[in-house]
Amino acid sequence: MSLPAIDAWLADNLHRVVTWRREIHAEPELSKAEYATTAKVVAILAAAGLTPQILPTGTGVVCDFGPVDAPRIGLRCDLDGLPVPEQTGLPFTSRVEGVSHSCGHDAHTAILLGAGLLLAEAADRGELPFGVRLLFQAAEEVMPGGALDAIDAGAMDGLTRIFALHCDPHLAAGTVGLRAGALTSAADRVEVHLRGPGGHSSRPHLTADLVYAMGTVITGLPGILSRRVDPRSGTVMAWGAAHSGDAPNAIPQEGRLRGTVRTGDRDVWQDLEPLVRSTIGQLVAPLGVTYDLTYVRGVPPVVNDETSIAMLRRSVEAIGPAAAVDTPQSPGGEDFAWYLESVPGAMARLGVWSGVGPRCDLHAPDFDIDERALGIGVATLAGAVLGGELD
Ligand SMILES: [Zn+2]
Repeated sequence: MSLPAIDAWLADNLHRVVTWRREIHAEPELSKAEYATTAKVVAILAAAGLTPQILPTGTGVVCDFGPVDAPRIGLRCDLDGLPVPEQTGLPFTSRVEGVSHSCGHDAHTAILLGAGLLLAEAADRGELPFGVRLLFQAAEEVMPGGALDAIDAGAMDGLTRIFALHCDPHLAAGTVGLRAGALTSAADRVEVHLRGPGGHSSRPHLTADLVYAMGTVITGLPGILSRRVDPRSGTVMAWGAAHSGDAPNAIPQEGRLRGTVRTGDRDVWQDLEPLVRSTIGQLVAPLGVTYDLTYVRGVPPVVNDETSIAMLRRSVEAIGPAAAVDTPQSPGGEDFAWYLESVPGAMARLGVWSGVGPRCDLHAPDFDIDERALGIGVATLAGAVLGGELD
């Protein structure tokens, strides 16, 4: 482990990482429109003598360096902001109305720039045990996510392993949350559009009682899934919207339900769509209504590989003031999962809570990070590469 190289680089350059984060924070860009952020990443990498390539979609960057005859490790971050108005009061608060970096992707980008430049200097000294690919991915915040565009552009070709980290406001700055196995959940979208003849509410037997049918699906689908799927898989179905009718004495002709079904188990995720389809069909069949089901598969769960987690743990434990802590599986989704379909890898949770005051949540207008986390993020990613293969 070349820890002195990390300490020395951070002593000279951590202020640059902080500056990049603040500059990116002030100019957030929405998913698939990260043009200025892409240009900034390219400029910083090129100024360091590297050869960044913009992805064919026009946003997002890949940049390879290091030995070509060694396994190549990917380090990935995401670039996009969110349509959330910022209310942090920071001096470098968002200058873009209604858009903010409330998921911390500004920090992820600055950290990956730092880790990249640190590792590129190690490569120049012949100290790099792996080839490296930096992957600055666009559009993490939209479904199905920019990871698929990056993969289509060949971002995974030749990689043997991939790492990423994500800010976690539930963990204090100075800690890095690690978990082997499922870290995030799959989140699929379910939309049901029901139709019937409609009619007078005094004679539901002469029409099809559409609201009753909606109620049957509303309660039946989550209930049946909870009996048919192992509860230890963390599978949960919830409706977020139900719309139909106006009058108290008229049975409406149509109604719409929208919800999500989430699971932390990859195998359950594979079987979920047919199970939801057949369950809704059987619930509705006796009631005389017709329906269309739109089932939109989201991302699979992020399932962290044990060796990759061990490489991250070794890195965090070498940092000194930082501590590796266990972290639970979350019900949120993350498109980093698509990369793990082809190579092993892991995502770490980077503690960003200042330790004072309430913990703000991701995607909230007051989301902010303790910038001490930036150096720890750089060291975590760089150390995972510099440590080489585990014995
Ligand atoms: Zn995020």
